[in-house]
Amino acid sequence: MKIALPLAIMSERTIDILIATNNPGKAREIAAVLSEETDAERHIRWHTLADLDQPIDEPVEDRDTFAGNSQLKATYYSKHSGMITLADDSGLEVDALNGAPGVHSAYYAKLSGKPSRAERDAANNKKMIAALQGVPDEQRGARFRCILTLANGDDVLAQSSGAIEGRIIDEPRGAGGFGYDPHFLVPELNKTTAELDPAHKNRISHRGNALRALRQELQNLLARLR
Ligand code: IMP
Repeated sequence: MKIALPLAIMSERTIDILIATNNPGKAREIAAVLSEETDAERHIRWHTLADLDQPIDEPVEDRDTFAGNSQLKATYYSKHSGMITLADDSGLEVDALNGAPGVHSAYYAKLSGKPSRAERDAANNKKMIAALQGVPDEQRGARFRCILTLANGDDVLAQSSGAIEGRIIDEPRGAGGFGYDPHFLVPELNKTTAELDPAHKNRISHRGNALRALRQELQNLLARLR
């Protein structure tokens, strides 16, 4: 087990769950939120794609909804790894752009070659802000959405969703987060999600909300398996 959860005491009956990400930071956060108020710490051994002896090629995410892509990833990695798998799909929906960039959030600007994540983020933001020129503040509503799927082979064991509402601003603010965060203003806080510390963002974010929504399902699953 490569994700070190504090004092993980395993009972005899444990299950292996693959978190379909290569990012250990993201995996740690996911495991930590799912372990709050559940027996996960005692009964789950968490893995990430980076832990696998045999790397698995990435699937083509060609569904037109977050739920479709989330399910596609969870079932694909579960079948290839033989483990119950948790996958997420997330992105930004901007009302004035009819929900774009939506499922294309990561590759909205369609850069050629092999751009870095930072280059992609910068190009995506530039394209979004250009597309919103002339749109007044009150019509700049947007939300981040996240859908999580827990799958065992082709079987979907649980799915949950979370969202956070905000507004797109032209001038970037804040140095935290990633992706569209510097342009995503949370009006009640008068801060962008790039201006929030990670713990604060997790408490209110689409991903945090989806994870908390999945917790009960996970607890039910653990109860069934014991
Ligand atoms: P994925 O679910 O990791 O494929 O993320 C899709 C894309 O949505 C990311 O590359 C970002 O552009 C965007 N996105 C998802 N969540 C966030 C967030 O919390 N902040 C900023 N951008 C996000």
